[in-house]
Amino acid sequence: MKKLLIIPALLLALNTSNAQAQEPTKKKKEQTKMELKDPVCHMKVSKDAKIVTTHKDHQYAFCSESCKTRFVDNPEKYVKKD
Ligand SMILES: [Zn+2]
Repeated sequence: MKKLLIIPALLLALNTSNAQAQEPTKKKKEQTKMELKDPVCHMKVSKDAKIVTTHKDHQYAFCSESCKTRFVDNPEKYVKKD
């Protein structure tokens, strides 16, 4: 019975040391977040919006094609700068 307790602890220790080395890969995992607000006119957009575009691994939804066009023309104007 004691052996069964040692194995998970060992795996945990191995995971912890591995986590640091694997972090870049982990971060690469697709994490595309869907912005549910039209970045152009700030209107709320439904989750299943069909007018979407991806900019810098971030997905943006739009209320209309014209908003999308405006965004695609100059995305930097509409994305939040960190
Ligand atoms: Zn819009």
